[in-house]
Amino acid sequence: MAYKITEDCIACGACAEGCPVDAISEGDGIYVIDADACIDCGACAEACPVGAPVAE
Ligand code: SF4
Ligand code: SF4
Repeated sequence: MAYKITEDCIACGACAEGCPVDAISEGDGIYVIDADACIDCGACAEACPVGAPVAE
């Protein structure tokens, strides 16, 4: 299990700053989560102003 960022992302960067394992990076237009690194903590979903990170 890992979180995934949907196309609702506005590329603000808040989630990347808060990720404890540095699993989030800026992708092509939206931010992306490295599923192998994600520990499923949910911090990105809480930090996001538009609810883009969702649990898969
Ligand atoms: Fe990082 Fe936690 Fe979000 Fe996974 S759920 S990407 S570990 S902040
Ligand atoms: Fe995108 Fe939300 Fe992360 Fe901002 S906090 S970069 S809107 S997923």
